[in-house]
Amino acid sequence: MNQDKFIPYSKQIISEEDIKEVNKVLRSPLITQGPISKEFESRLADVASAKYAISTNSATSALHISCLALGLEKGDILWTSPNTFVASANCALYCDASIDFVDIDISTGLISIHLLEEKLRKAKKEKKIPKIIVPVHFAGTSCAMKEIFRLSKEYGFSIIEDASHALGGSYNRDPVGSCKYSDITIFSFHPVKMITTGEGGMITTNDLKLAKRLEKLKSHGITKNKSEFIGSKIFSWTYEQQDLGFNYRMSDINAALGLSQLKRIRNIVKERNNLLSNYKSLLSTLPITFLEIPKDVISSVHLAVILLEPQLAIHHSVIFDLMRKSNIGVQLHYIPVHTQPYYQSIGFKEGQFPASEDYSSRAFSLPLFPGLTFSQQEYIYNQLKINFKKVM
Ligand SMILES: *Cc1c(COP(=O)(O)O)cnc(C)c1O
Repeated sequence: MNQDKFIPYSKQIISEEDIKEVNKVLRSPLITQGPISKEFESRLADVASAKYAISTNSATSALHISCLALGLEKGDILWTSPNTFVASANCALYCDASIDFVDIDISTGLISIHLLEEKLRKAKKEKKIPKIIVPVHFAGTSCAMKEIFRLSKEYGFSIIEDASHALGGSYNRDPVGSCKYSDITIFSFHPVKMITTGEGGMITTNDLKLAKRLEKLKSHGITKNKSEFIGSKIFSWTYEQQDLGFNYRMSDINAALGLSQLKRIRNIVKERNNLLSNYKSLLSTLPITFLEIPKDVISSVHLAVILLEPQLAIHHSVIFDLMRKSNIGVQLHYIPVHTQPYYQSIGFKEGQFPASEDYSSRAFSLPLFPGLTFSQQEYIYNQLKINFKKVM
């Protein structure tokens, strides 16, 4: 098959129905802070099996106010894993807290429970227990939440699940976002993620106090709810700023797109799982491995990551560049956060988290999105095979 069109690693799928729903909002009186963002929140809370859902204008802002709502401040510590997008770590620094990492289990790309336990034991001795841990459900596969939850009780830390990749997945039969084993879960609706709102995010929690705090923080720290007022002079126009918050609200235009997309989430997850299975059978003879998905997890399969086998004497950038030349948009998820120049400038060193570094020197993500055809997958497989031959 000849392929002259670039196949990206991911992209948004916008239906005619989506466009109709966005148009409806554009013709309505409220294009922000209207009923649609509320409806999107309530539908997402249903899908995630959580009591409360709070929409935001990105997952990054969701992470920021989640940290604030859990009381993260100067002198506190947040841990996440290096195999993530920088936002999972940056949120600590926004709050003047410090950041540290727990390395991954290379077979899954997820935070290593064994290393987490080890690091907690050491941190306890040094009186440096983190206030918050952010497990990242990398590639749509939930981390071992029961174990992390058990450790949170033993050592006393809060948990924010970064489920930017994992909408529609499940862990131990509970939907990701149910917060059964965490305080808060956050989602991203950037166009490459499971569903999109253009830019956008969502926070789920079962804790009413947290939900109220988050609601205020995303809107300047202001409340219009009379029952919450602190002052005594109350007029019909009164609103109160009680905290220093932000404008992190999602518009109803964005929410309409998300709400419409959310209707398809089950099919999206099914199709992504099928596409991954196709890759697994097509690529079975190549010198690569796929990430493992634990038995108690249904992955949303946000990414189709392959790892070159360690004994291959080629740098993965060689294959990477050849694939890009074949018009295939392979991508690396992720450059370990602690190796970014900014993180090096605040004291992190290469070699500190060897599993993440080894992983990122051998991993790349193949194109995967609803609508990717079997013949495109065959083309990708053939190009991989040809490119491997060229360099081996
Ligand atoms: C995309 C992503 C984010 C940030 O999401 P935005 O909505 O773009 O702010 C955070 N964490 C992870 C793991 C992501 O993939």
